[in-house]
Amino acid sequence: MDLGRTDVRTPRDGQGPFAARDAGPLREAGAGRELLGALSLEQKIALLTGADNFSLPGQPLIGLRPLVMSDGPAGVRGAFLDPADRSSSLPAPIALAASWDPELVEQVAAQLGREARAKGIHIVLGPTVNLARTPFGGRGFECFGEDPVLAGRAAAAWVRGLQSAGVAATAKHYVGNDAETERWTADSRIDETTLRELYLAPFEACVVEGECAVIMAGYNKVNGTTMTEHTHLLRDVLKRDWGFAGAVVSDWFAARSTEETALAGLDLVMPGPSGPWGGELADAVARGAVSEAEVDEKVLRLLRVARMVGALGGEEPKPQPGPRADRQVLRRAAAGSFTLLRNSAGTLPLPRNAHSIALLGPNAVLPQYQGLGSAQVGAAIAVSPAEGLRAALGSHTELTVHQGCRTWLTTPVPEPQSLTDPATRAPGARLEIRGKDGGLQHTDVLEQPEVTWWDPLPPTVVRTEIRELTFRTTYRAQASGPHRFAVAGLGALRLELDGPFEEPSPLVLTETAPPVEDPIAALSRPFELGTVLDLDEGDLVEAFASCDPSEHDGEFTRFQLGVVPLPEEDALIKEAVSAAQSSEAAVVVVGAAAGTESEGYDRQTLALPGRQNELIEAVAAVNARTVVVVNCGMPVLMPWADQVAAIVQVWFPGQEFGHALADVLLGVVEPGGRLPVTIPRSEAGVPVGPARPVDGALEYSERLLVGYRGYDKAGREPLFPFGHGLGYTSWMFEGLDVPVGPVRAGADVEVTVTVRNTGRRAGREVVQLYLSEPDPANVDGYPQPMRPIRVLAALGSAYAEPGEETHVRLRVPARAFARWDSESHAWVHPRGSYLVQVGRSSRDLRLSAPVLIG
Ligand code: BGC
Repeated sequence: MDLGRTDVRTPRDGQGPFAARDAGPLREAGAGRELLGALSLEQKIALLTGADNFSLPGQPLIGLRPLVMSDGPAGVRGAFLDPADRSSSLPAPIALAASWDPELVEQVAAQLGREARAKGIHIVLGPTVNLARTPFGGRGFECFGEDPVLAGRAAAAWVRGLQSAGVAATAKHYVGNDAETERWTADSRIDETTLRELYLAPFEACVVEGECAVIMAGYNKVNGTTMTEHTHLLRDVLKRDWGFAGAVVSDWFAARSTEETALAGLDLVMPGPSGPWGGELADAVARGAVSEAEVDEKVLRLLRVARMVGALGGEEPKPQPGPRADRQVLRRAAAGSFTLLRNSAGTLPLPRNAHSIALLGPNAVLPQYQGLGSAQVGAAIAVSPAEGLRAALGSHTELTVHQGCRTWLTTPVPEPQSLTDPATRAPGARLEIRGKDGGLQHTDVLEQPEVTWWDPLPPTVVRTEIRELTFRTTYRAQASGPHRFAVAGLGALRLELDGPFEEPSPLVLTETAPPVEDPIAALSRPFELGTVLDLDEGDLVEAFASCDPSEHDGEFTRFQLGVVPLPEEDALIKEAVSAAQSSEAAVVVVGAAAGTESEGYDRQTLALPGRQNELIEAVAAVNARTVVVVNCGMPVLMPWADQVAAIVQVWFPGQEFGHALADVLLGVVEPGGRLPVTIPRSEAGVPVGPARPVDGALEYSERLLVGYRGYDKAGREPLFPFGHGLGYTSWMFEGLDVPVGPVRAGADVEVTVTVRNTGRRAGREVVQLYLSEPDPANVDGYPQPMRPIRVLAALGSAYAEPGEETHVRLRVPARAFARWDSESHAWVHPRGSYLVQVGRSSRDLRLSAPVLIG
């Protein structure tokens, strides 16, 4: 077999996986060089560091307006903390990836873009396109899964959708920021081939296919160099090889040097107004260490982005206030991401005329709509599983709800109906913010006593002047028994409780939270101070909680008053089991607890928190129609998988959780998802375990063998393989047509797959194409044992009526037949016979055929 190399190609040749578009909005945005002459060096430099936490300064001399940013990618928080203007909460990116449907992803992102515009946002800080290298990753829910082709397709679609609304997308965190442990400093040691073929690939797709306007450089190092100072990856790869025309922004506080970052190709420092550039960069230019042309290039890149989003020259298009994302699109996207892992004896869909359904589990009561961290939004709407099912089921179905066990880490905030503002008797809790002079800066009655802030506060509040935040409320016990009361937050905390209990009244607790290491981690898992009180139903407790955030860096804060009844867990399980026993079906909603999956730290375990496994097994033992709904971002272990009738993985589905769940459980729509990550059988069996740097270094020693590639190579069975997911109909793979003769190396390959819907309802099948390299005994510079057996190379959807046959055309990009050669530092296209396999998952391959590249 001839494995000779052919010519080297980069995507700029138009031969990569992503044929670059000649003129997208960013290139059309023009150069802006004519404006540079109007500005002094200092004025130019001033444009390159944030004006505050989330905006870049404007410059009236050249008609540049401030560019406002907001975090994505699962919603857009907005520029101000404004309870009256909350946000839509979208399915998390891992869910969007699970749809294996780039068109759907594009539609969802376009909704997000519209909402961003309405909130006056120019740049959304998303998508996150790091890979889910390990299921222990705390932030894996924010990524598009473990495979670079799926992630790249989804991410590029996301970028296109968002940018179609005139908003710039920010692909982050460039690159090798695939875990959270020691995230500020970890040195990801990744060989060149692995970097190009795996971790850079989704960024390349965003740039070349999606024409992403902004790239965010991560906190981490790659092979010894901090990403904001990485000349090779920023200049050579991103800007030269891929032709990136937009701006590179630092992750927040990731720019930690002046000359090194400026020279390496970083364009913007965030946040501001302080930072390592400003006067120090001007000095560096004066010394000749950095050229003025360098500064000009950064400004030009910024101006290009500004022009693209309408913030340069002319009139700023007025934000259209109001319309949030279209709820129907979000509902469809959530259902389209729900992944049916098991459905024995056609348990799902459930009969719509069931007399009784027991809705059980901690996540039925405290659903996790979103993962935590900067991706979190204050959602305007959140439809719980119970609300969704109640709305869909007729009055003839009795729906009983029981939590079954407890999993929360931070004491949850109480239900609004149990709270009264003592001053006005209105439902809720009174928030007061006082300044250092004791004066009241802000007051409001909140439905639930919880504030988290990142963004600018209401105009009356001066952040640096805040001395105290307080909540005051009267809690009415909804049941008899022990109750936990707790204040959680950052800074100095105090909790005072007064009521009909034996303890000295008022009961006062005070303590200062330990210093914050990672602000975002501290927001997700705040320090908590609390106590347990025995109450009778109807008892009233006056609760006062306070927090002095000045004790820590008051830029960020979280402050909440939690109250929760604390019945015995054995009793909770018993109640759930007895409800399951007397119901036609049991739907057990389990999963993450708030704070088990977050930015800022990694997961400690893949096990479901608390006693959820025990709950599921106990329920399954008494009800043969037990459907487990798994609500988490990254995989959990499912030791009970073969004891239950059905399993639906619902990820973090965003605000339409309940409606989408009802749609799928009752068969209004099919569950559309396929796994974007492998679900392991055990923690020990995962190809990449917890990412813990050793002496600061994180070795990517598995090289290309991440996720399913690792399982395949090791011959190890996962619990559910990458790409797996069932619908409500069945499919036959009837034909696979590949080119008969040899295909020129470096060309795309067209493949047609014929599938037939052999079931009884219309449906969608995801057609997955995997490619195996010819036996590459002589791969230059790369150890053959580390090459995967097969990799995903193309995907497509088939829609068909019962009995109908349909043809799915797939384009396998030339890049799928290329390998990165670390000796010549270039893509090579080895000739030879490749095996194409198509099927329903990485382990359910139905048809195969050779393709000769010659
Ligand atoms: C995160 C980014 C985020 C930024 C601004 C950082 O800590 O890593 O993803 O966009 O904060 O909130």
